[in-house]
Amino acid sequence: MTHPAGVRRVSWQERWQDLRPVPFRPFVEVLPGLYQVRTRASRSYLIAEDRITVIDTGAPGSGERILETVRELGRSPDDIADIVITHSHLDHVGGLPELQRWVPARTGIHLAEAHHIESDDPLPNPFTHPLLARISEPYLQWVDPGRARIDVYLRDGDEFPVLGGMRIVHAPGHTPGSIALYFPQRGALIVGDAMQYRFGRLMLPHRLFTQDMAQAADSIRRLAELEFDTLCFSHFRPIVRDADRRVREFVRSLPA
Ligand SMILES: [Zn+2]
Ligand SMILES: [Zn+2]
Repeated sequence: MTHPAGVRRVSWQERWQDLRPVPFRPFVEVLPGLYQVRTRASRSYLIAEDRITVIDTGAPGSGERILETVRELGRSPDDIADIVITHSHLDHVGGLPELQRWVPARTGIHLAEAHHIESDDPLPNPFTHPLLARISEPYLQWVDPGRARIDVYLRDGDEFPVLGGMRIVHAPGHTPGSIALYFPQRGALIVGDAMQYRFGRLMLPHRLFTQDMAQAADSIRRLAELEFDTLCFSHFRPIVRDADRRVREFVRSLPA
């Protein structure tokens, strides 16, 4: 069978190629040098410069995935110099003990939560509802990652020479020691679990896991005063344009 000149017949193989889902990518580059990595139960960030900074470590079992990403970037795990933890929930800090066994990185968390990591006690139960907390307790005890080492107790306003300058912004509410990481030179903000971004909408952190919702809203009001284009979350895809305007609009929608 012939076809009119200029009309190319699309084979079923080509159609099939179009229909196939895009291949699963374990990591994406958000900005030059800043990567979002899928870990177990959350997402971590890697900042690859001369040295590598890891932000959050996923749930237990995520350490190997972080190291794999470092190798896929053509780097050595020995290049990991620093690990920063946004807060002490299991899905952010669970991979820390295993990562520390493999790399001698300096580790920082806000001083309000360091004791959860350094002690032998299980991590605090993230559920705010008493019944859910009780039901989840045996499971959480079973998966608890155990203690890890904290080298640096972070405070609001601390600065580090990462991506042209990384400022620690204390953003309590989700947990007392939650922090956001602000990169003014790059116009980027990493908020951890201080905000949600579902179905294209910014939201307060999840009520089931947030200790103080009013304080969480106050923290978002503070973050809205910063200037940034890119906004990165621990469980959602990033906003890559005009993110500060979106956060300001969201803040205006919050009850006073
Ligand atoms: Zn959390
Ligand atoms: Zn989380």
